[in-house]
Amino acid sequence: MKKTLLITWWTWYIWSHAVVAFEEAWYKTVIVDNLVNSSINTLIWIEKILGYKPDFFEVDLRNNEKLDEVFKKYNFDWVIHFAWLKAVWESCNYPLKYHDNNLVWSIRLFELMEKYGVKNIIFSSSATVYKPSPLTPLPDGEGNIIKLWYTETDLTWDCSNPYWTTKFVLEQILRDLAIHSWFNVMNLRYFNPIWAHETWFLWEDPNGIPNNLLPYIMKVATWDLPYLNIFWNDYKTIDWTWVRDYIDVNDLVEGHLFAYSKLDERQKIKVESNEQNHPTPLYKEGINLKWAFETYNLWTGKWVSVLEMVKTTEKVIWKEIPYKIVWRREWDLAEVYCNPNKAYKELWFKTKVSLEESLSNSWKFYSSKN
Ligand code: UDP
Repeated sequence: MKKTLLITWWTWYIWSHAVVAFEEAWYKTVIVDNLVNSSINTLIWIEKILGYKPDFFEVDLRNNEKLDEVFKKYNFDWVIHFAWLKAVWESCNYPLKYHDNNLVWSIRLFELMEKYGVKNIIFSSSATVYKPSPLTPLPDGEGNIIKLWYTETDLTWDCSNPYWTTKFVLEQILRDLAIHSWFNVMNLRYFNPIWAHETWFLWEDPNGIPNNLLPYIMKVATWDLPYLNIFWNDYKTIDWTWVRDYIDVNDLVEGHLFAYSKLDERQKIKVESNEQNHPTPLYKEGINLKWAFETYNLWTGKWVSVLEMVKTTEKVIWKEIPYKIVWRREWDLAEVYCNPNKAYKELWFKTKVSLEESLSNSWKFYSSKN
């Protein structure tokens, strides 16, 4: 029998990819979304790819009654929680709106998981919870800059805006639920996903002027925007522009599938050893927290500067991307990349899609729309 999975929020391009990937991997997906930040049309595109519509409910997670009905109707094996507001600038202007949306509605969801005994959750966290690397570069004694990358055990916190804070707090809440309740949590931290689905039906195409780098570059390439603003270049990276780790969305979604396999495998071991449904909190039974809350970075482990992104795009699509160096974004971090080894060793997760392929696929979509 197919395992049933609840997906909270789905119309942003990563999550619609996830719906397709999970359905294709023989899971039944049930989607809830309040459509505040998204369009029902994504369902039509998903239907075009799959040949059928997955079950969808227009529900605000804060509306317990409606969400309760969904939980009652299905016997969920696991939940994958993507639902939140995510614009950093907006969170700085409306911090309480972000805490109310992202924290309160997650707590309502976790309450229902407890009520219906749904133990497994994949939480979509972010590298933004890591304590930022110092803005002053650290010399290695030979005049070079030591590359700072985040591993799962690094310090978190120091969030510089309310959106990031909500991710940090939710990680802590889930950690508590893993220790003091019986949640099994896969906490996946990632950053800078790029590209579109190979069918081109699902893509990263925000309304209006994009905030993120790749859609902005693509809109410059299609002459919808005159030039790219490169935010600041005073940091001692390879070319003075800022550095990120860009992961293809297809790799990212595959990482979720691997994470679920691991969760499922752990669950089976628990069933065999008769630990499942134990009424007392895990910690009292001496069960290692490692069993119940695990964090993985899902990144490529390759860092790319903004200028390298521009140059690589130019090479792949054979077009010039005009740019100007401008002001620095208030909350921006100079270097964000991580160590992907734990996911590789424990989940067998390794990214397959190169930056060039991602950019080329992205361009296929954007150029076809013009
Ligand atoms: N960036 C830029 N111009 C833009 C958008 C982004 O120079 O119009 C830079 C930004 O400073 C960061 C990188 O591109 O170093 C990735 O930014 P994005 O907003 O895509 O993701 P972030 O890492 O900020 O979440």
